[in-house]
Amino acid sequence: MPVHRPADPRYDAVIVGARAAGAATAHLLARSGLRVLLVDRGRYGADTLSTHALMRGGVLQLSRWGMLEKIIAAGTPPVHRATFRYADAVVPVTVKPSYGVDALYAPRRTVLDPILVDAAVASGADVRFGIAVADLDRDRRGAVTGVTGRTRDGRPFRARARIVVGADGIRSTVAERADAPFERVGISAAAVTYGYWSGLQTDGYEWNFRPDAASGVIPTNNGQACVFASASPQRIGRGGLAPLTQIIAESSADLAGRLATAVPPRALRTFTGQPGHMRRSWGPGWALVGDAGYFKDPLTAHGLTDALRDAELLARGIIAVADGADERDALARYQMTRDALSSELFDLTDVIAGHRWTDAEIPSLLLQLNAAMTGEVQALATLPPHPPLSDQRRPARQSPDTRLVEARPAPSG
Ligand SMILES: Cc1cc2nc3c(=O)[nH]c(=O)nc-3n(C[C@H](O)[C@H](O)[C@H](O)COP(=O)(O)OP(=O)(O)OC[C@H]3O[C@@H](n4cnc5c(N)ncnc54)[C@H](O)[C@@H]3O)c2cc1C
Repeated sequence: MPVHRPADPRYDAVIVGARAAGAATAHLLARSGLRVLLVDRGRYGADTLSTHALMRGGVLQLSRWGMLEKIIAAGTPPVHRATFRYADAVVPVTVKPSYGVDALYAPRRTVLDPILVDAAVASGADVRFGIAVADLDRDRRGAVTGVTGRTRDGRPFRARARIVVGADGIRSTVAERADAPFERVGISAAAVTYGYWSGLQTDGYEWNFRPDAASGVIPTNNGQACVFASASPQRIGRGGLAPLTQIIAESSADLAGRLATAVPPRALRTFTGQPGHMRRSWGPGWALVGDAGYFKDPLTAHGLTDALRDAELLARGIIAVADGADERDALARYQMTRDALSSELFDLTDVIAGHRWTDAEIPSLLLQLNAAMTGEVQALATLPPHPPLSDQRRPARQSPDTRLVEARPAPSG
């Protein structure tokens, strides 16, 4: 069977996984003139198992990349307020303008991910959906030199690159094939069940915290609100309306009342839980970004923000290497920065998601979380402008007409 090869067999970077982490990294690398191949086994624009509240750092990234207007143009409502409810307190927090961000947003993944992919295409990346990567190629010294896999119609696929980036999510094949060790593993795994309500009265993000009964509201596109309940896996079970309604009744009578008058979804989606991990995220010829290298429980709603943050940090490292920096130094610095910005959040998330707190303790844990997030935003906001690749190293651009292959939905009408 002939091996399916992409138009350009030798890339500067092959990125596996075309969502938040991968598409953003591809965009930044291609924008700097690197030859980039972005592959995903899924379909362009498909939904995925994830709610999608962005925190300030994530919005800041979209804004500095010029994508926030597109998120807004897609009808994503601005979030100007977050309301926290505990056993005996309701704490409204106004989203104050800072670092050029005056509202938060929670675009559906069917909105966010295609905007990132389209930006990668516009920057010159070659993007292929329907390709499942199964293994890594290596040279005689063990350095990764490319990927192998299969196209959706069963043909073998191979692409070579100076660096392979695993942006392939929690169960990353790239991480597994690169033997990326787990450097930290959490001990908590909450489950989440969620769905989209219409006509729900809400004025922003809502987060309700009671022991083993957390819930919330995330306003999103099409006038809908994502409503979720998070608790221990045994409480959530297979998920659905019954456990969600029960947990919301326990965690906020106010939300339960409003939910009763809104239009419920036909079906809910359920994540059965997985402990957080931080993996070693680089080695000779490979790197990890997003959930592939660093995952934490969704209850603190920070995975997307961190994926967009780390796309920036990794892209800077790879661009430095293309510009002559030592690969080990540049990638080690990437992971060091990522870990420094993540460790506190990782630990706090593990405690919060494990429901190892009392009603009296949760406000202080959330204040600590907020302080960690503020540090992250400051670090992001003070990054110098993205370094351009020096002209003598800038490779020729690819032809624009074959860059996004497969699975663009045909225009209707
Ligand atoms: C229930 C739930 C709720 C969440 N809620 C929030 C929230 O409110 N806010 C927030 O910030 N974060 C949230 N998160 C976390 C967030 O979803 C992740 O952090 C984010 O999706 C990470 O993006 P990523 O690009 O690293 O990986 P993913 O979004 O998982 O994308 C990985 C991609 O890799 C592709 N892929 C995988 N393996 C292969 C392969 N072998 N070959 C080719 N392609 C491959 C997949 O098809 C997929 O498209 C939530 C997560 C869950 C599970």
